Amino acid sequence: MHILVTNDDGVQAPGLLALAQEMRKLGQVTVLAPDRNWSASGHVKTMDRPLRVREVKLADGTPALTSDGAPSDCVALALLGVVKEKIDLVVSGINPNANIGHDVTYSGTVTAAMEAVIAGVPGIAISLDSKPGHGELDYGPAARVAARIAARAMAERLPQGILLNVNVPQRADEELRGIQITRQGLRVYRDALDERRDPRGRPYYWIGGEWPTGIDEEGTDFGALQAGFISVTPLQLDLTAWSAIHALRSWSW
Ligand code: MN
Repeated sequence: MHILVTNDDGVQAPGLLALAQEMRKLGQVTVLAPDRNWSASGHVKTMDRPLRVREVKLADGTPALTSDGAPSDCVALALLGVVKEKIDLVVSGINPNANIGHDVTYSGTVTAAMEAVIAGVPGIAISLDSKPGHGELDYGPAARVAARIAARAMAERLPQGILLNVNVPQRADEELRGIQITRQGLRVYRDALDERRDPRGRPYYWIGGEWPTGIDEEGTDFGALQAGFISVTPLQLDLTAWSAIHALRSWSW
């Protein structure tokens, strides 16, 4: 099995290194990840400038590829031929913060896995639900979870068009309570506008505010994490609101 490892935090992020090291136990690993942080960049396709790919080494000496494109660009580059050998699975992460509820539309970690699915390759996104104000993170437990889930997804053949969005509580291996298959829950965003003045008196803005929370509901990604479970949410790119189709068709257009 040949696994592409990418992320949205940049090729030198410690979460990617931990993930690549665990994935190597499952098969051949190629790393192609952005050269800088693209967190909360959403699903990007760079079309207005050329993309460069260069060779780097990870902190443990592993050869890797990096590009100046977004996470989804990195996946596209790899699958379109920058990486010559056929890729069987794309794994993205490990993001240092959870990607749950509506986060998935912002997340570079998740949209990298979406790009894989668009190209017909299974995709898995892995995020660590770290506590606010955490120090240095131990990605070991989440990396081992990622390997377990990747092995299972390949053995069971993840259906076409489906990616897995995995979120792991920040706990030691033995304190993780197992896997729950979940649906997207609801984030509660607490964004607030911070308006300031530059030295010339012109306004500029930061979208700031408090860290988001969520609605603690059983069966959801947020609910699983709150209870100490690993959350595995199958996602699809068909965003059609099926519940509204019938009503809209009945409107007199
Ligand atoms: Mn990130």
